[in-house]
Amino acid sequence: MKITSEQEMLKFGKEYGRAITAMPLLIELIGDVGAGKTTFVRGLAEGLGIKEPITSPSFTISKTYALPGGKTLVHYDFYRLKDPGLMAEDLEENLNNPNNIVVVEWADSVTNLLPKNHVKIEISYNDDGTREVKL
Ligand code: ADP
Ligand code: MG
Repeated sequence: MKITSEQEMLKFGKEYGRAITAMPLLIELIGDVGAGKTTFVRGLAEGLGIKEPITSPSFTISKTYALPGGKTLVHYDFYRLKDPGLMAEDLEENLNNPNNIVVVEWADSVTNLLPKNHVKIEISYNDDGTREVKL
């Protein structure tokens, strides 16, 4: 699917968030720096009814947002982390909690912890600056 602007990525994320019903759910986001992974999560959060602004968890590794209705969105970014250390345990715990929606950017160092057949969304650049999204 071709996404031509930041606005369109936000809309795609929002619609995706609105459509989520079954939990727990893990979404792995794959794509280069600046591809639009966090932008997708901003839209997703809006679709899930989160009012707070979403910022990249690249420094804190994880960020947590309360959803209306008591569920939680947990957003991880393991960028360049060779050893996730204690964050691996944190991720495992969050994946086992049925009240969570977990989104992971740069999951390479934690792939062994991810359940098989989870949702993967791949975002790449096109030559014209638009993004290609593969589900
Ligand atoms: P990532 O999390 O993948 O590193 P971000 O979502 O933080 O990327 O940043 C993507 C940047 O690219 C934002 O500054 C956004 O405004 C810009 N951008 C331009 N076109 C698009 C598009 N079609 N989809 C998503 N982001 C886009
Ligand atoms: Mg990001």
